[in-house]
Amino acid sequence: MNRIYLDNAATTPISSEVLNEMMPYLTTNYGNPSAVHAFGRETKHALDIARERIAKGIGCDPSEIYFTSGATEANNWVLYGIANANKDKGRHIITSKIEHPSVLNMCKRLEEEGFRVTYLDVDSQGFVRLDQLIHHLDSDTVLVSIMTANNEVGTIQNLQAIANIVGEKGITFHTDATQAIGAINFNVHEMGIDALSLSGHKINGPKGVGALYVKKGIKIAPFMLGGEQEYGLRAGTSNVAGIVGLGKAVEIATRDIVTNNKKIRQLRDYFIAQINKNIDMCYLNGHPIQRLSNNVNISFGMVDGESLMMMLDLNGIMVSTGSACSVGSVKLSPVLTAMGLSKDLVKGAVRFTLSKTTTKEELDIVVTQLVKIVQKLRQISPIAKSQVGTL
Ligand code: PMP
Repeated sequence: MNRIYLDNAATTPISSEVLNEMMPYLTTNYGNPSAVHAFGRETKHALDIARERIAKGIGCDPSEIYFTSGATEANNWVLYGIANANKDKGRHIITSKIEHPSVLNMCKRLEEEGFRVTYLDVDSQGFVRLDQLIHHLDSDTVLVSIMTANNEVGTIQNLQAIANIVGEKGITFHTDATQAIGAINFNVHEMGIDALSLSGHKINGPKGVGALYVKKGIKIAPFMLGGEQEYGLRAGTSNVAGIVGLGKAVEIATRDIVTNNKKIRQLRDYFIAQINKNIDMCYLNGHPIQRLSNNVNISFGMVDGESLMMMLDLNGIMVSTGSACSVGSVKLSPVLTAMGLSKDLVKGAVRFTLSKTTTKEELDIVVTQLVKIVQKLRQISPIAKSQVGTL
């Protein structure tokens, strides 16, 4: 059975270009970059290049990039580090209800430690309520953290407007750009973004590596304690091969942004149109246009999304319900719930995320399978049975 992978928001394969750059650092160039001898200097140089590539990709200075074990660590660190380093100034943080758990769970921890956190609502398309943001900013606020694009529904926030509102008050603005690198252009200095998180494995780079950009001058406490790596702010022997891969992946993703987006967007819109044409009671979640070019999140009326996902899997098609990080939990998607969807439509949601290698033929196969499976599921659906009329 040929398998079709439409779960690229969960993770992506390492590209050959990236792997080729990494290979020497997994084999022959194994020096510890903190060592002063030749092997150490060589790997230190490789880290410098990666830092430059990432800085160029998002528009900052290389000295403002810190390597981490991924976006989870970057998000944990930025919240913990900025809150703790600035608690003499204030103890209030603003975020939104649709952030990744790596933001929300750290916010909960900070609340336990005496910080005050405001969770902004979103509208029915997943946009953060700017009126609420303006209302809640106060003299105690030290950090605002709003993701660039949502991992479940793909809605891209009005980032510049948010950065402007927060910047005018002189408050630090962080964005989790994990899903947005390679999808939208960043120039963090020009845009007034003070901190940004990103991850390797969402952009055809390796897993377990990411980066945090923090603008020079912003006070941040270390999160990992130990040696002097990463300017003394993030201890631990550097994951050299991973960092090299991350640097290359960011370079490629930001270089190919226009061509990739154009191609993937066309496929996305074709896929949405085909689903709507062939299956009734389908509702696209998120904004129809201001969304990630690879994201199709659809609620199938009178269908259980988990069952649909599993039946697609039996047919070699890999998708997800909600976000991959919450697989196994019976909790309804907090993102779709925050957007105001009914319980049944939350349960009926399936996320398909495309890539630059997805083909129209693959999408046609998926639509054919969807038609069959949705019909089958609706025949046995207790929700459908309770409705008047036939489906
Ligand atoms: N933020 C967002 C928006 C994500 O989608 C993810 C990955 N699911 C993360 C953070 C965490 O990234 P990582 O896997 O690198 O820890």
